[in-house]
Amino acid sequence: MLKVAKFGGSSVAGAEQFKKVKKIIDSDSSRRLVVVSAAGKRNKDDHKMTDLLYLCHAHLEYGVSCDEIMDSIESRFVEIKEDLNLEYDVKRDFDALRARLNRDMSVDELVSRGEYFTARLMAEFLGFTFVDAADCFFFGIDGQIDRDKTDAAIKEALEKYGKIVIPGFYGSLAGGRIKIMSRGGSDISGAIASAAVDADVYENWTDVSGILMADPRIVDKPKSISKLTYAELRELAFMGASVLHEESIMPVKERGIALNIRNTNDPEHPGTMIVESVDENAGADRPITGIAGRKNFSVITVNKRNINVSVTLRQVLDIFDKYKVPVEHIDLGLDSFAIVASTTAMGDAVYDIAADIKKTCRPDRVYMQEGLALVAAVGRKMTFRPGTSGRLFKALGDNGVNIRIIAQGADELSIMVGVENAQFETAIKVLYEGFAG
Ligand code: ASP
Repeated sequence: MLKVAKFGGSSVAGAEQFKKVKKIIDSDSSRRLVVVSAAGKRNKDDHKMTDLLYLCHAHLEYGVSCDEIMDSIESRFVEIKEDLNLEYDVKRDFDALRARLNRDMSVDELVSRGEYFTARLMAEFLGFTFVDAADCFFFGIDGQIDRDKTDAAIKEALEKYGKIVIPGFYGSLAGGRIKIMSRGGSDISGAIASAAVDADVYENWTDVSGILMADPRIVDKPKSISKLTYAELRELAFMGASVLHEESIMPVKERGIALNIRNTNDPEHPGTMIVESVDENAGADRPITGIAGRKNFSVITVNKRNINVSVTLRQVLDIFDKYKVPVEHIDLGLDSFAIVASTTAMGDAVYDIAADIKKTCRPDRVYMQEGLALVAAVGRKMTFRPGTSGRLFKALGDNGVNIRIIAQGADELSIMVGVENAQFETAIKVLYEGFAG
C-alpha cells in the first residue's frame, strides 16, 4: 500500500500544525510521499506566505522596499525551526535569497520559495528526504508538465530515498528556470506525484472534513459526503463547489487512483472518498449527493419567427466564441432560444455580442436579463429513477422559489434550475432540507 499525502497551507501554517502532520504521517507507514503547500494562515487575520511573496515581488517591481514583508516571512520560518528544534539553517538560506533580491528575480522563483522552505523544514521534521520540485517536476516548451519526464524523476526519487517530501506548486523549465503553476497548484503536484508512483490513494489534507453537501455559509452545518464519483465531483465543482484545483482531478482519475479529502485538524474523520464508481447500494439512500450553485448569470434571448435553429444557434455560439465568453447553458424554444453566460465573464463584451447577433442573425428581437443564479442538485442516484425532479420542483414551488430555467443533464447526474439571484440561498436551503436527509 502506498499513499501520497498532500498538505495544504493551513495544515502547515505553524509548528502546531507541523506536529499534527507528523502524527498523521507516523500513524500510517504507507504515507511515504508527502507534498506540501507554503505555510498558510494561522488565524483569520494572518496572511498566506504565497500572498506575501507576491506582494514582495510587486514592491520590487516598483522599486519600493520589501524589507518589512521579508522580515515577517523570515521570522515565520525561523519560528517553526526553533519551535520544533530543527537543524536546518533556514535563516542562512533565507538571507542568501534576500541578498539576491532585485527587480530581475522572477516572480515565479520568489513565490516558489514559500513551498521550498516549508518543505525543507517539514522533511527534517518528518525524517524524510527533501526532494526539490525543480528536480522532479518538469515543464515542457508548451508550459505544460512533461508527464513522462516528471513521472520518471518522481518514481526514481521515491525508489532511491524511500520516504520523501516534495514542495508543491512549482517545477522547472528546460533551462532550469523555476516555473510556478496556477494558484492552488500544490493539489496538481500531489495528483501528478500520485500518478507517477501509482499510489493506491491520493490523500488531500485540508481544514475541512471532506466535501460538504452544501455551502456551509448558506446551510447550517451541512453533512459531509462520504463517497462520491469523479463524475459527480466534476458536476459539483463546475457548479461552484470549491473543492480542489480542477486540474488535479485528471491525473488521478486516469489511473484509477482514489482521492481522499481529509481534515488535518480532525484526522479521525474519514473525510470524502472520490472514486470512479460506487456500489449503488452502498451508503445512505438519499437521491442527492450534493448541492452547489453560482450567482450572477445573464440570459440573452434571441427571437426570430420561423427561425432555423441550427443555423442561427451556430452563428450565435460563434459570436460568443469570438469574444471568448463560455456558454453555460442553452434553452431552446420554437421561435427563440436563450443563452446563459456569466455576467462577469461577459463584461463589456455583451454590447459587442448583442451588436454582432443583430448584424449576423437579423433576429426580430434580442434582449438580455441579468441577475440569474444557477443551482444544481447532483447525484448518481437520480439516474433512471422517476420522481426526483418532480419532488424537487414541488419543494422549490412550495417555498415560493420561482424557477426560470430547468435543465437535466442527459446522463441524469444533475438537475439544474435557474432562479433569481435573490432566491439563490432559499433554493439551496430548500433542496438541502428536502433531499439531504
Ligand atoms: N501556495 C500556493 C497558493 O497559495 C499553492 C498552493 O497552496 O497550492 O496558491
